[in-house]
Amino acid sequence: MELVVGCHLSAAQGFAAMGRTASQIDANTFAFFTRNPRGGNVKALDEEDVNALREHLEREGFGKLVAHAPYTLNLCSAKPGVIEFARRAMAEDLRRLESLPGNYYNFHPGSHVGQGANAGIDLICEGLDEVLDEGPHTTVLLETMAGKGSEVGRSFEELARIMEGCRRGDVLGVCLDTCHVWDGGYDIREDLDGVLDEFDRVIGLERLKALHLNDSKNGCGSHKDRHEKIGQGALGTSTFAAVVQNPRLRGLPMVLETPNELDGYADEIRLLRTLATREEA
Ligand code: FE
Ligand code: FE
Ligand code: ZN
Repeated sequence: MELVVGCHLSAAQGFAAMGRTASQIDANTFAFFTRNPRGGNVKALDEEDVNALREHLEREGFGKLVAHAPYTLNLCSAKPGVIEFARRAMAEDLRRLESLPGNYYNFHPGSHVGQGANAGIDLICEGLDEVLDEGPHTTVLLETMAGKGSEVGRSFEELARIMEGCRRGDVLGVCLDTCHVWDGGYDIREDLDGVLDEFDRVIGLERLKALHLNDSKNGCGSHKDRHEKIGQGALGTSTFAAVVQNPRLRGLPMVLETPNELDGYADEIRLLRTLATREEA
């Protein structure tokens, strides 16, 4: 199966432009913010632009895209107004993504800001019940978090509890961020298969839908969340070779969120494709 790999792209020039840029750097998936990551409003959707992207994706045989919710959304804030905004923005994003059906939308579960993980999980479930009520044609993915501050989703157990706790939990999936799980204390450098076994036992591997590929500036269990370029951090190139060669991960969209400009992403995509074919030889 072909490696599905790409990177986070700017949505500033529109949808079709992202498709063209992705193809230029040999990507066959990509991620983008559904709106300004600092929150805020969205431009009206340009149907012609979206249709042009849809045609491009089909013609070039792209895998699924992984749209990213603004990281400032917090479904488990202590402030009702913040929760209200997060629910409204997610529902609106999912409505807009109906014109790109069948893709993924990933979000950070939230930060409980001192209310405790249990209260946070309850609030996240309440929010998801409201947001998923309309039955979107987009699979919503919880991202594995590094556990910085009061982030919820710092362990597979917390993610499993969110999925079990909401009515439409059956349609949720997980996006595994390599930097975040490592910073969260899962040693994917020494034992990737052991961590995947653990994921399977706690959540179920069939729920794993996408990956964020990032090296980490810090050590396992550091709970820092500082991304590094592939091969230049604590994880190292060998970890990413193991990831792209792992038959349990092959075919899932893998999205780079490393500190790079476009040419840096092009280099990393080339490296990952080389690492992926090395094993088959
Ligand atoms: Fe993220
Ligand atoms: Fe990520
Ligand atoms: Zn991160």
